[in-house]
Amino acid sequence: MANPVLPSSGVLSPLGLDAVRLSPGFWGDRAALNREVTIDHCREWEEREGWIGNFRGERPRRGREFSDSEIYKLLEAMAWAGHPGLPALAETVAQAQEGDGYLNTRWSGSRYTDFEWGHELYCYGHLIQAGVARLRTHGQDLLTEVVVKAADHVCRRFMNGTETCGHPVIEMALVELYRATGTERYLEMARRFVERRGLPALADIPFGRGYYQDDVPVRQAQVFRGHVVRALYLASGVVDVAVETGDQELLKAVEAQWERTVARRTHLTGGMGSRHADESYGEDYELPPDRAYNETCASIASVMLAHRLLLATGDVRYADLTERTLYNMLATGVALDGRSFFYANPLQVRVPAVPHDGVNHAAEGGLRSPWFDVSCCPNNIARTLASLPAYLAAGTGDGIVLHHFTPSEIRHGRLAVRVETGYPWTGSVRVRVLEDGAGRIGLRVPAWAADATLARVPVSAQDAPLPDGPVVRPVSPGYVHVEGPWRAGDELRLELPMRPRWTFPDRRIDALRGSAAVERGPLVYCAESVADEPPLGDLTVRTEPPVERPAGDGAEGVVELEVTASIGGGSGVSGGSGGSGDGGGWPYGAAGAPEDGADVRLRLVPYHRWGNRGPATMRVWLPTIPPAK
Ligand SMILES: [Zn+2]
Repeated sequence: MANPVLPSSGVLSPLGLDAVRLSPGFWGDRAALNREVTIDHCREWEEREGWIGNFRGERPRRGREFSDSEIYKLLEAMAWAGHPGLPALAETVAQAQEGDGYLNTRWSGSRYTDFEWGHELYCYGHLIQAGVARLRTHGQDLLTEVVVKAADHVCRRFMNGTETCGHPVIEMALVELYRATGTERYLEMARRFVERRGLPALADIPFGRGYYQDDVPVRQAQVFRGHVVRALYLASGVVDVAVETGDQELLKAVEAQWERTVARRTHLTGGMGSRHADESYGEDYELPPDRAYNETCASIASVMLAHRLLLATGDVRYADLTERTLYNMLATGVALDGRSFFYANPLQVRVPAVPHDGVNHAAEGGLRSPWFDVSCCPNNIARTLASLPAYLAAGTGDGIVLHHFTPSEIRHGRLAVRVETGYPWTGSVRVRVLEDGAGRIGLRVPAWAADATLARVPVSAQDAPLPDGPVVRPVSPGYVHVEGPWRAGDELRLELPMRPRWTFPDRRIDALRGSAAVERGPLVYCAESVADEPPLGDLTVRTEPPVERPAGDGAEGVVELEVTASIGGGSGVSGGSGGSGDGGGWPYGAAGAPEDGADVRLRLVPYHRWGNRGPATMRVWLPTIPPAK
């Protein structure tokens, strides 16, 4: 089955790319753009930067020590997308493999001398994931031969010992290769890598061993910490190991870590990461909007983890977080033209970025960049959008369940349905049965959708007036299942309330106190100020119901919002030592100056669309409390 994650057991069974097909719509359009534009964009940049040339032995070697992994993620994207460039790129990669299976363009000749920062096993992890994608979409070929040779080399070299990699990912990759091939040593190798961590297995570093989750054994950890991508890739591998070995204690440990992390260390967008220096989680409730890091890769890793936990447990909370993350992080990470990307995704940008069209040498920036020195995010987006259908629905014992609503066709067992919807802009979801069939159809009612309704409309009753026509009933957040049998033409009509809503932060998130944000459906909104629009630094909003507006750029269907705000004139403070109000040279005093701003209508745009109109300032969290008098 064409699917990146195929556990052998679980409450839900995965549906792959052969069962779920996207149609034009929010995600179908993005997947098509990815297939037609982004994948080639990545390949061109990797060639231009010399990262592909490294495999041909071109010298000097170029790129960071882990640049091989970018080619592997691209190969994975190509495999899922059926891209015709895969065989040629795989042939280039194969040239660099050594006789015993070793493959790394940076460390060849000085193997395994730096487990903390060398990323050799990390690179194998992404290579193996590419091979699994190829096996499941095409079958054996040169790429899968290379992958098996590399995986066998890893097992020979590392099965007995204490070593592991500073950057996890090989754990989940090996489990998936086990699932794809049935070769048990891959699972055992993954299990040992998981159990070695935290004993500790790696050297201490200035960031501390928590940076690479080597501070305590994974079973004892209370929360995700350290480098976010590492933490979430590791946790994904831990879930995989737990599921395949039937280790309930291990699974429960990750569930508890996830729960605390979501409750205390996750931004409104679903993004994770509060510190730039080490790309890490902060302490509990350390969630500053302007210093939010929220690496695009971290959001992808979060989706990978939540998906695994969802399949294992069937708990709807994992699908709710996935939805939040897909619409507000994955969709944000790539520009509307598919050719530039965000690395960090803060919730406030104070200074408009300077436009450029070359390599961004940092992860920062208020504009998407076509490429980065470390270009993990573009390739990660490419492979995720290429395999996205696998995350949208699942099989149940006797039917299907739809986690995410986007135009698509789904076939599984004795069910074939078409999903028609303008979601996330509209809340109407129509699930039309395509052929006579049987089995339950389940729909997820999102946590925010308190007033949702569902109607079952048999094909025979579609034109009938009430009371013989459809019966509309309220449904609560969670999963709702409707029993078959079904006749071709039968429909389920789900109506989700799309009224914009104000959202307030937990008081313990001190950086957000006194602020509120606006959400509508699954989307987080933000104020964005380009060119001569009002600045956002000194504003106070009124939490009145936001008004819906068509998109300022004319984009079809897109809903923008408008609220009333008071934008001050840079009022300062008064009184106190050294403070003398505006222009006093000291921004602290005994009292805040009275608010003297004029009321304006403030336009809010979906967060995932921000930064597409040129350099801008932006903020998600809007102050609701005027300065103290
Ligand atoms: Zn990244």
